[in-house]
Amino acid sequence: MSKKEPKLKFNAAWELAPAPEDTKHISIKKQYDLFINGEFVKPNSKKYFATYNPATEEKIAEVADADERDVDKAVKAARVAFNSWSKLSGAERGKYIYRIARLMQERAREFAVIETMDGGKPIRESRDIDVPLAANHFFYYAGWADKLEYAFPNRNPKPLGVAGQIIPWNFPLLMAAWKIAPALAAGNTVVLKPAETTPLTALKLAELIRDSGLPKGVVNIITGAGKTGAAIVNHPDINKIAFTGSTDVGKLIQKSIAGSNKKLTLELGGKAANIIFEDAPLDQAVEGIINGIFFNQGHVCCAGSRLFIQESVADVVIRKLKDRMETLRVGDPMDKNTDVGAINSKEQLMKISEYIKIGKNEGAEMYQSSCSIPKKGYFCKPTLFLNTSQSHRIVQEEIFGPVLAIQTFRTIEEVIEKANNIPYGLSAGVWTDKGSKIFNLTTKLRAGVVWANTYNKFDPTSPFGGYKESGFGREGGLHGLAAYLEL
Ligand code: NAP
Ligand code: MG
Repeated sequence: MSKKEPKLKFNAAWELAPAPEDTKHISIKKQYDLFINGEFVKPNSKKYFATYNPATEEKIAEVADADERDVDKAVKAARVAFNSWSKLSGAERGKYIYRIARLMQERAREFAVIETMDGGKPIRESRDIDVPLAANHFFYYAGWADKLEYAFPNRNPKPLGVAGQIIPWNFPLLMAAWKIAPALAAGNTVVLKPAETTPLTALKLAELIRDSGLPKGVVNIITGAGKTGAAIVNHPDINKIAFTGSTDVGKLIQKSIAGSNKKLTLELGGKAANIIFEDAPLDQAVEGIINGIFFNQGHVCCAGSRLFIQESVADVVIRKLKDRMETLRVGDPMDKNTDVGAINSKEQLMKISEYIKIGKNEGAEMYQSSCSIPKKGYFCKPTLFLNTSQSHRIVQEEIFGPVLAIQTFRTIEEVIEKANNIPYGLSAGVWTDKGSKIFNLTTKLRAGVVWANTYNKFDPTSPFGGYKESGFGREGGLHGLAAYLEL
């Protein structure tokens, strides 16, 4: 080995060892520290905050509250690690990332259970969607690590440096994977902060990363609330901020880094139009509407929260929709037959309830499924509003809950105009039998993602991101990799 080669090496012990993960055992500690420079350390303030199970209102664990000094420590560790990590060959980096992906698969059950306990989403979704997709992001980007020159020919790809990554509470593990995997593949190091109400799977990921033998300081995971996020954003030695969250906080971040050299990607809110034409396969479309708005209790940035139905089929679609809503099982997220789990927090439930009141006061007609909801925990019945119009707040503003606003339309021109007449531009859905209509609409809808005859489908190979107040930059695919490279 020449003197110039970095010292990072695989630890032979874990390369040879079988992975004896006891996947039946779910281990949650009473208290979690900050993951900085490869180990768990106490927060400078010695302060901890509680994270709760929103389905039972019970405290699950205490989590460290990081302040500016902790952020500084994490950034310093990431800076030191960057020197060697960025010089490691892409093939070596790829091996580490594959290792993370495989360990995630081995511990999938533990991740799924903890995700559901901490955030309230149905176990069926954590198990079948969040965790496998998160692992797939690591697999996918691991494959690019040694092919950057081929991915971006003649563009001399170089990592940016230390990436500060801030994620929301709706897909905690998946958002961590979306952020960490491309950053590492490109040769960056990371300081990531999960949301205050859902820190546990990111901390489990920290344990996994420690066990994977990833060199110290390459990934640092620190917990806290908004103040901790702001400290990351404002740290002078960060090269890139990747933020997923609300449009309001996104705007704040954009202001606070203006004039600095930091690169920025923002994945913000949405209010997607899901458009059903009279020639659509209606039963399939109804499934798509249900999935579009009730998946993850509607805590989905790309949720199909505005439904546009062509007038001639409005009555039949609404009848089918109401019938289908009656069959949804709302309740215990740990029950594998549950369709709609708990609202993520008391605050979010209050926000959604407020919007339901606003909808009624605006004169829209409300319909809720007749299901009963548990006495304890934060739950909301699947809800839809009929007779809404473009000026209603429930049509214009992101509710981030299981609440659908329905309008009807006659012509394509009319629905395109209405779909686009909104501050957001993250996603949309189109349901029709005609390919030509799909192509016509996908070019005219100002939305980063347009699904045709399906909804809420995600894949690591396809870029995701918005227009207008839904943010800028893309995650996923090569676009997502480019966002972590100097080209
Ligand atoms: P949020 O309130 O904006 O919080 C997002 C993250 O930013 C959290 O970790 C939060 O910390 C942190 N934060 C809060 N204030 C901050 C500040 N001043 N500076 C830096 N960081 C700060 O959003 P949320 O309520 O968690 O998530 C829901 C929003 O995310 C929705 O609007 C949704 O549409 C959007 N979202 C977008 C996408 C996308 O890909 N476009 C994907 C998922 C979600 P604490 O929570 O700990 O306070
Ligand atoms: Mg929680």
